[in-house]
Amino acid sequence: MTRAPRIAVGGFMLESNSHAPVATRAEFESVVLLSGDALLADLRAATPRSPRTITGFTRAMDEAGAWMPLPTLLAVVGASGSCEQGFFEWCVDELCARLRAALPLDGVFLSQHGAADAVGDADPDGTVFRRVREVVGPDVPVVATLDLHANMSEAMVRYSDVLVSYRTNPHVDMWERGQDCARHLRAMLRGLRTHAAYRKLPLAPPSVTQSTAPGTPYADIIRFGQERVRDGVIDVSVMSGFTSGDTPKNGLSVVVTADDRDKAERVAREVATYAWSQRERFVPRLMTLADATARAVAVGRDTRVGSLLFADVADNPGGGGRGNTTWILEAFHKAGVQGCVVGPFFDAALAAEAHRLGKGARFEAIFNRDETQEFSKRFAAPATVAALGNGEFVGRRGIGKGRLLRLGPSALIDLGGVSVVVGSNRHQASDPGYFEMLGVDLARVRSLVVKSRGHFRAAFDEFFPDARILEVDVPGLTTPVLARVPWKRIPRPIYPLDLDTTWAPA
Ligand SMILES: [Zn+2]
Repeated sequence: MTRAPRIAVGGFMLESNSHAPVATRAEFESVVLLSGDALLADLRAATPRSPRTITGFTRAMDEAGAWMPLPTLLAVVGASGSCEQGFFEWCVDELCARLRAALPLDGVFLSQHGAADAVGDADPDGTVFRRVREVVGPDVPVVATLDLHANMSEAMVRYSDVLVSYRTNPHVDMWERGQDCARHLRAMLRGLRTHAAYRKLPLAPPSVTQSTAPGTPYADIIRFGQERVRDGVIDVSVMSGFTSGDTPKNGLSVVVTADDRDKAERVAREVATYAWSQRERFVPRLMTLADATARAVAVGRDTRVGSLLFADVADNPGGGGRGNTTWILEAFHKAGVQGCVVGPFFDAALAAEAHRLGKGARFEAIFNRDETQEFSKRFAAPATVAALGNGEFVGRRGIGKGRLLRLGPSALIDLGGVSVVVGSNRHQASDPGYFEMLGVDLARVRSLVVKSRGHFRAAFDEFFPDARILEVDVPGLTTPVLARVPWKRIPRPIYPLDLDTTWAPA
């Protein structure tokens, strides 16, 4: 190829919790909704808003030689509900119109999540790939990153060439997987032709069992796959899936890409068979609220013992939780827990009230006064406004490192013994900055309650090693206790919801 290759970039990233309120255009706008030149500028900004998949891809393409990036549309929100159908269709139309305008193309890179749902489309990710393929034709390589929580469909595999999922949870390798895509795309531009094999298991690992820390079943399955990346096998992706999504696509998936169909099929079968053999290790074990409260009281009283982190795994905004359930807050407050900080708690009305009243003001803090979701109960307590801020900071550790994060107008509300970081946007506790921006010294906190399922682990490990992290079992939209979820569309039987599920490689 004599001229610089013309590569379109874009994507649609949404992780849909089927039990959460519908994801709106406004929500995407508050995270990332960029197109054309604005997208290109962001990809090369010092602190981009775009995720590290697409910035990693861009950097690797820059480093590997000349290319012409052609920005389409990038729509990103964390986890929310199903997407508004009209907005989803607008996104796909806009992305495809910009693709068409960019023709002729030599390649396409998409940053997808893979667990999106839309009100009128059960497989939005499959729709994106199909529509992109319709525009560019069968011969233009389409490569994409996927979240490790992707709920895969046949269409996603059929209409793409190379799909690369994250291999870490917390997802600290988004940058590297974007770079992998650049490497594979460059190889395809030089003539490589790929074949993908796909397997799905009737296995839905609950969220808290999807850590990839050493010694976990998921880490072992990923390692088993990576050992097979050689001799023409270019990628092995194992996606555990998103169990807060209730879709016909739930289940752990394996996608293997190779330079030969038989190789891809053989490795996909080996990895799927190994993953199935590990299924009993995916049954979660959580701590009761009563036990958690007793531990928090004890650690608040005795400053000689190590501080504790309590993960509110059932109210993880990163999984579509509202970030505002009060079970732990109320129990700890009632028990007189000392030295505790909770957050970030999503309550724009309360944050606005704190800003109106000013720092030092005493008032009756009413949590969830405007919230209608059934798990987000109202809770009130006498309080002091301890600190105020605009909620903006650059992530310093974990999945948001280097990104500009915006919790919106925020306040630290002191209830006496327990303080709460209250924000105006719905974010999970994926960075120490959510607390530090309001003056909280995490080294001195006796107990920290985080609204997060697992991404907090890469952010708070300086203060809380794994042995001092406790996962608490309270109700919420992201509960990992699958038996409590009102399933409607998930394929049954599926393990560990149905313990007698069987599977054999086809
Ligand atoms: Zn994920």
